[in-house]
Amino acid sequence: MRPMNVLVLASLNRGKEEEFSQILSRFNYQLGSIEDFIRNYKQLALVENEKEGATYIENALRKCKAAFYAAKAPTIADDSGLEIEALEGKPGVHSAHFAKPNARESQSAANRRHVLELLEGKSNRKASMKCVIVFMLEGVELIATGECKGAIALKEQGSGGFGYDSIFLPEGFNGKSFAEISVDEKNRISHRAMAIENLIHQIQKNEIQLVRP
Ligand code: IMP
Repeated sequence: MRPMNVLVLASLNRGKEEEFSQILSRFNYQLGSIEDFIRNYKQLALVENEKEGATYIENALRKCKAAFYAAKAPTIADDSGLEIEALEGKPGVHSAHFAKPNARESQSAANRRHVLELLEGKSNRKASMKCVIVFMLEGVELIATGECKGAIALKEQGSGGFGYDSIFLPEGFNGKSFAEISVDEKNRISHRAMAIENLIHQIQKNEIQLVRP
């Protein structure tokens, strides 16, 4: 069997891991199981939950370095966020902890509620999901970016997905939210898919080998 290009993803978020895995498989890349590469992989939560840096790149670099030093294998890490035009690009790099949850409310539900409250009565609902991926391999560091343009819904739509999925309406899907389109569809057009495509392009252009020929 042809050896696969295996990458370690510096994240403990299962939803993200599944999306990365599906998108990467289109390019004949595979995610290695983090447990197999990093002994104390649960410690990565400390890095993931650290107070956010000033930029997506800074955050992705921090996560990638921590995992790469431990895994000693080709590693990727991402940082993403929602940018809303009428809020001057907020929540942006602060997307993960944008709102304070009420009792029994999850962090993601609080974030979505806050966005909908801030946009109440606003006609400009344009927004973008952004993603930055950092790739590390001995002596190589690549940075890839991706964007998915869309708008913020008037209320939550659909129950699939995670994070801001149920309030983000990607362009070209007749007002359906990320939570209402299929996983396949989301993984073809998402900010993460665009960043991965860009990363694979850079890996190929730079003739970087992940496995011995
Ligand atoms: P992080 O990159 O995991 O830190 O994500 C930042 C924030 O954006 C978190 O609140 C995520 O839930 C949210 N987020 C990232 N990617 C997506 C997505 O594809 N859909 C919805 N929310 C997302």
